[in-house]
Order: sequence, then C-alpha cells, then structure tokens
Amino acid sequence: MDSHGYTVHLARLERARARLKEENLDALVVLDGINIVYLCGFRASYAVLVVDAREVCLITDSRYGEAAERDLSWMTVKVQPGREVQKFLKGFFAARGYTRVGFEESISVEQHDKLTTWLGGCPLERAGGIVKGLRAIKDGEELARIRRAVGLADRMMENAFSLLRPGASEQDISRAIRFSSEELGGEGESFSNIVASGTNSSVPHHHPGPRLLAEGDAVTVDLGGIVDGYCSDLTRNPFLGHVPKEMERVYQVVLEANEAAIAAIRPGMTGVEVDAIAREIIDTAGYGAYFGHGLGHGVGLEIHEGPRLSPMADDTPLVAGNVVTIEPGVYIPGLGGVRIEDYILLGENGAEILSRFPRELAVLDV
Ligand code: ZN
Ligand code: ZN
Repeated sequence: MDSHGYTVHLARLERARARLKEENLDALVVLDGINIVYLCGFRASYAVLVVDAREVCLITDSRYGEAAERDLSWMTVKVQPGREVQKFLKGFFAARGYTRVGFEESISVEQHDKLTTWLGGCPLERAGGIVKGLRAIKDGEELARIRRAVGLADRMMENAFSLLRPGASEQDISRAIRFSSEELGGEGESFSNIVASGTNSSVPHHHPGPRLLAEGDAVTVDLGGIVDGYCSDLTRNPFLGHVPKEMERVYQVVLEANEAAIAAIRPGMTGVEVDAIAREIIDTAGYGAYFGHGLGHGVGLEIHEGPRLSPMADDTPLVAGNVVTIEPGVYIPGLGGVRIEDYILLGENGAEILSRFPRELAVLDV
C-alpha cells in the first residue's frame, strides 16, 4: 500500500478510536470483511481486526499471510496456520485483558459464539453502528473513487442505450451491460443489472428474461459498476419509438419527484423527511399506491449502506458527506413502470448530483 492509502486508513482508525472512547469501550472487534477493508484496506475471506486505543491488529490465517505482511506493514499483523487461529485468539485477548469490547451486531450467531469463547467472559457490547456511522460519511479518498465509479455508470448507461431496440431481448442487453463494466475500465458490476421492458417494468427488481423489446415499451435500466472498490447505481427509463400517453404522465411525475427531492435535501433533515418530499408529489398525482419502495440509500464499498431515505429510516439526521441515491418510482401492473435514479453527494448547502446522464424523458429511435 502506498503512503497515501496508509494515511487515509490511519485517519479512519483515529475516528473509530474516538467513537470507542465515547462508547466507553476498550476495543472493537471487526469481523465484517467490508468494514475491515474500510479501516485498513485489506481484503480477505477470513480476518479479525482488533482496534484499541494503542494498537490496531489484524489476525488472519496463512492463506493471507504474505499479502497482509506486505500491505499492512504500518500496523500489527498476526498470521497463524488455520488450525491454530482459534487458540491464538483466546491467548491474544487474555493477554490484553479488555474489560468491555464492542462487536458488530451484523455478525452471525456462530461468529458471536466464537467471539464469546475468545473473550473468555469479558462483556461484549453492540457497536456495529461505529464503523457503519463512519462509512456513511465519505472522506476525500472515497469521494474520488465514487466519482470515478459514477462516471463508469454513466458510460455503461450510454452503452446500454445504444443496444435498446425492438427485437433485442432483455437477457441479451443485460449480458452486454454485465461485460461493459470491465470493458469500460471497471471491476465488474456493483449488482446484477436490471433490464425490465414493457409490462415487465412494473416489477421494480425484475430479473431480465427472454422478453423481446417492442416499439412503445418503457425500458427500465438499472445498473452500476465498481471502481477501486466503490459502487455506483444509476437508473434510466427510456421509451422505444413513442411514449404511451399515461406513461408520459407517470414519467413526468417521477421526474418531478426526483428533482424535488434533490433540490430539497439538506444536512439536518432525516431520511424520512427527504423521502416524504418525493412521496407527496407521487401521492398528489394519484400514484401513491404504486411507489412501494424507499426513496434512496447510501452507496459506497457496498451497493446498499447507510443512510437510508425511506419512511422506515431512523431519525439520525443526514450530514454533509453522505452519498445517497434518489430513486423514486411508479410501477403500475399491466401498464409498466418508471424509476429515475441519481447519485448525489450531500454538501453543506445541499446536493451535488454526481450522475451526469440526462434524466429528461428519452424516446429512442427505432
Ligand atoms: Zn439502482
Ligand atoms: Zn439504488
């Protein structure tokens, strides 16, 4: 790892330590692989990261030994043969004598059982919100990567638009989108893309199938790519040849909801409040029953992370540095659906729209 990456991770660890202090915890045990990537930049299918006030230590097995010792020379690394890891961890925690340790409540019951054994009676406290909370506020390095990931999604969408024509199947277009991420310089898709045409577009998470696109179809294309570990997420909803009357109205309502939410979002608002701005527009137009999902979600190392913009979001206020999608949709069974999804960075004065792909109604020549 270069010295730049090392500095970035030290800063994240310092923020984690400050939170540990506030929570009165001696240490945090991190088992979630993505949280480990966030804190120290290391990817492994098995690793335990222990952060305390003085030290940060990664314990892993010999499969990852060479890479860990090479990339993490700035922190403590303990490599054990797979069969010794459990015994080693018991000794490791016994030697530290922690009195209160935080863990991520997203771990499995099996992992929790093991953790309890390693800690030998030391109280364990739920502390998954610590790293989650840090990850919801992007630092400069993350924003640089996110901008590249969104740029990739814009290019993937451009490529997808060029493939939409009557007679092409959803599956064929979906496959081409899947390959386009790497062809355009990314590290694959951030999720399995959605291509939903005609009446299939009323299913928000439709699985692309053999249906052939036809003139007059609405086509929902939801895609994203990964750049330097960071995800993007973008939905556009063009029409082929012409726009059926009611769908044009649906499109304008969804567009208005998307733009109103982007214009209104500010630090200090809750995810429920931002969601309500878009929802009210859709409700007033008479389509409230057809907008069944939340308005948006955070994106970063994972395609869905905090904060959430939804009627079910918690009351944590949004803050500058949050990166979220704004994706209202209206899905009418038997008719079709429209979703318009953008990707924004919340600044002190409101949203900076990161996705550049035009969102006005597009009618593609057939
Ligand atoms: Zn999406
Ligand atoms: Zn999304």
